[in-house]
Amino acid sequence: MAQPLQMDAEFLELRTKHPFIIARGGQSDYRTMWVRVRDADGHEGWGEAAPSRFYGETAETVLAALNVYAAAMPADPFDLEETERRWEGMLRINASARAALSAALHDLVGKRLGVPVYRLWGLDPARAPRSTFTVGLDTPERMRLKVGEAAEYPILKIKLGTERDVEILRTVREATDKEIRVDANCGWTVKQAIAMLPVLAEFGVTVLEQPLPPGEIPGLAAITRRATIPVIADESCRTTEDIPPLVGAVDGINIKLAKCGGLREALRMIATARAHGMIVMVGCMIESSLGITAAAHFSPLVDIVDLDGAALLASDPFVGARIDGGQVSLPDGPGLGVRKR
Ligand code: MG
Repeated sequence: MAQPLQMDAEFLELRTKHPFIIARGGQSDYRTMWVRVRDADGHEGWGEAAPSRFYGETAETVLAALNVYAAAMPADPFDLEETERRWEGMLRINASARAALSAALHDLVGKRLGVPVYRLWGLDPARAPRSTFTVGLDTPERMRLKVGEAAEYPILKIKLGTERDVEILRTVREATDKEIRVDANCGWTVKQAIAMLPVLAEFGVTVLEQPLPPGEIPGLAAITRRATIPVIADESCRTTEDIPPLVGAVDGINIKLAKCGGLREALRMIATARAHGMIVMVGCMIESSLGITAAAHFSPLVDIVDLDGAALLASDPFVGARIDGGQVSLPDGPGLGVRKR
């Protein structure tokens, strides 16, 4: 009988150029996990888990979950659908740990076949929309500085959900005439969000992400009805089953591998959202180019790309997909096409 694939995992210590601050706090140091699966012929597939406390994960819970999932490693990496279902049945949460394994299996499959993952899916990488680049919360002086540092990126994303949202928007708008999208990261009430809509319009904001905490679907619907720009659910939408209740309440959903738990689930979310005529966005956590590249492979299928997680790092341990000048460029090597720096 064929041997199950072997798995190794290693912590990655990442540091952002600036403290990355959003409505619920922030930090500069992030711990993710590099997962490798290996077949009997020595082929390796790689993936990264980028755990978020908001979704109940830390690097330590990722390691514990990986040890559980390791007991159900497939012998055949092509057994993707069944394997992801099996892992999900073992531990329903721990999405980032499963996402790393899913990416690693897809990487291994691509390497065995000698083709990039995007080609396995029949996608044209030139169709990926341009990525935003996030300017994190800071003092007005430092935000002006960061806008200057982001000169190469044509679309900026601004984190809101604070006491000084209007000042933040004004600061950024005075510093640039680029397209601005905003993310309130659950930081508003319905009343605050509705009061902010004319302000967003005044400053020419084009997208509003997650104004309310998850679960407040009627509130989201009230905001979307009044908004003149698309409202996108992020924290309110983790997996496919979150989508039907959001239909009509928001214009679109933000898919992240660390929320949905794998590449196949991400594709299911895209298909489900499309069936409901929704806008599809892909986002990320603070993670290296390894994790970003896994998400970048399905970016030709989405409308809005926010894959700046590795671009925000002081140093990136991997080389993979890039967002130079905002343009997503996918590596053309087999599998994910990622290598160690
Ligand atoms: Mg978001």
